[in-house]
Amino acid sequence: MHVLNEQFIDNAWVDSHAEARLPLLDPFHEAVIGEVTRGDPLDVDAAVAAARRALPDWRDTPEARRGEHLEAIAAGLEARREGLAELSSRNSGKPLAEAHQDLDDAIACYRYYATQARALGKRQGQADASGIEGFSARRYWDPVGVVGLITPWNFPLVSSAWKLAPALAAGCTVVFKPSEVTPLPERVLAEVVIEAGLPPGVVNLLHGDGEGIGAPLSRHPGIDKFSFTGSNPVGEKVMQAAASGVRPVSLELGGKSPILVTEDADLELTCDLVMAGICYNAGQMCSATSRLLVHERLADDLYAAIDAEMAALRPGAPLAEGTDMGPLVSAMQRDRVQRYLALADREGLHSETPAVALPEQGFFVTPRLYRDVPPSSRLWREEIFGPVLCARRVADDEEAIALANDSDFGLAATVVAGDPDRAEAIARRLEVGNVWCNCDQVAPPHSSWGGMKRSGIGRELGQTGLDAYLEPKRITCRAAT
Ligand code: NAD
Repeated sequence: MHVLNEQFIDNAWVDSHAEARLPLLDPFHEAVIGEVTRGDPLDVDAAVAAARRALPDWRDTPEARRGEHLEAIAAGLEARREGLAELSSRNSGKPLAEAHQDLDDAIACYRYYATQARALGKRQGQADASGIEGFSARRYWDPVGVVGLITPWNFPLVSSAWKLAPALAAGCTVVFKPSEVTPLPERVLAEVVIEAGLPPGVVNLLHGDGEGIGAPLSRHPGIDKFSFTGSNPVGEKVMQAAASGVRPVSLELGGKSPILVTEDADLELTCDLVMAGICYNAGQMCSATSRLLVHERLADDLYAAIDAEMAALRPGAPLAEGTDMGPLVSAMQRDRVQRYLALADREGLHSETPAVALPEQGFFVTPRLYRDVPPSSRLWREEIFGPVLCARRVADDEEAIALANDSDFGLAATVVAGDPDRAEAIARRLEVGNVWCNCDQVAPPHSSWGGMKRSGIGRELGQTGLDAYLEPKRITCRAAT
């Protein structure tokens, strides 16, 4: 049994002020494997105070030195790769291979921001055109200050790396709240942070739910900026709370991403990309390509190929070799997806996907393709967060682009086309933050991540991800006479 009733503040585990705890589940065995504190506003006060105390020294630590700490965090995670992947797989239900992929992404992210920290050091004090004769100007970038970071459960260690690594590189100190659903892998970060030699108070980690930690953190006046990944309703609450004190927010929210397929696309490649886009992590991806827009000439063949692939999936124990789809993360998430399947019946949607044999235990749902779904359907418009794909046939690229853009969300898209120039021309017209043409959903740390419309505000990863934690400063001086 894992008992997580302590908070990581000032490089030490201290008892939470909360009495109440939440059960921690293994979603395959449907078994309670521990409990986690719900957290308390007093825990938030203590963590914010620690982060504020640590800020002046950390802000003044040379960028290159901060980069060394980030390298050490990457090394600490790498040394624990096997055990951590297993823990993450057990806690989230994702197949072990996917948990390994998460670890590799997180490690690469800390390493990348180590180099970005060094590059930031070189950027500081650059001469800038003054624009006025007899004046000189220089540019600097100051850390935003103490940042509040809140993450969901679907990519533990990755969502946190995308926030922690650039925030630390920038010189911010951090109060980090991981999801209460997958706290087990995240809590290991505390060990890694100590081992990496970070001074007390630079990283504080608070376990708890929205009520115990999330809401008090987003209301706390001691936080200078928030970076939130999660659902739209909660993102809006964080933004409202941040309005008090005019604190900036970065939001990575939901999606209902399209995959567009032209008539000359390779059928096998298309089927692979469709399957990865909707079945990876059992479809629990903000960037899941859950709306398929396929040219009418290819539609029937593609539908048949997808149905065959879905029927051939091997759902099973996350830690077992050969499992290619795990359970959903919780009973709540499974019930949510099943409500959409019941709604599909009421809406009269058509699916020919053969039922895949599901294990007797675990929060599994049957993967399903719905054919020729009307754009008015709630399944077409709302984020389902499970292996449920809605498809429509289109007459040409114009119709596909118009339907793709007819969404409240604008996170990501995939285009599959025989002609790469045509794929890119389509991609240019999509109202989303990321488009993959004829390839998987790759997101190396050098790239950028985030969405348009209701999918959020700002971008993570790349230099833009670092700049999100920096305040540009310009110093203009009259030249000595
Ligand atoms: P969620 O919004 O329920 O929870 C996210 C985090 O917010 C959790 O840590 C939760 O405890 C916390 N929280 C809850 N109430 C809060 C409050 N009032 N104030 C502050 N924090 C609060 O989301 P979830 O169910 O954990 O994750 C699924 C959602 O996340 C999906 O909508 C998905 O699209 C989105 N997501 C987006 C991205 C992206 O990059 N755009 C990535 C992953 C997940």
